[in-house]
Amino acid sequence: MSWPKGKPRSAETRAKISATTKGRPGISRPISDDHPCRNPSAETKTKMSESAKKRQGPRGPAQSRWKGGNNSRWYRFLAALKLHRPLKEGEIVHHIDGDRTNNSPDNLQVFDSQGDHLRHHKDFA
Ligand SMILES: [Zn+2]
Repeated sequence: MSWPKGKPRSAETRAKISATTKGRPGISRPISDDHPCRNPSAETKTKMSESAKKRQGPRGPAQSRWKGGNNSRWYRFLAALKLHRPLKEGEIVHHIDGDRTNNSPDNLQVFDSQGDHLRHHKDFA
């Protein structure tokens, strides 16, 4: 379902919109007709996930997790602060004393990959 740009909405269309949003208290304002969320086709969904990837950018994956309030990722944020740069994808934050709840910057060590991290555990654990 798509509308030519600039075409004014008919009264009938407006009635349809209010009918579909009525009785759904979670929706405070109607989504515009051309909004992809309104009726996402498979193609639109692909486009949406592509643009979501673009929005994230190089620092995105770590950042969006920080915003997600996932406490298990909190140490990644702290490690990024320690390094003065965002963590790259694949970088692993290791807890030097083995206590995952001890997120003191002195207790965090960043490895380039899980492989390096595991090697460290083999050698020193
Ligand atoms: Zn570790």
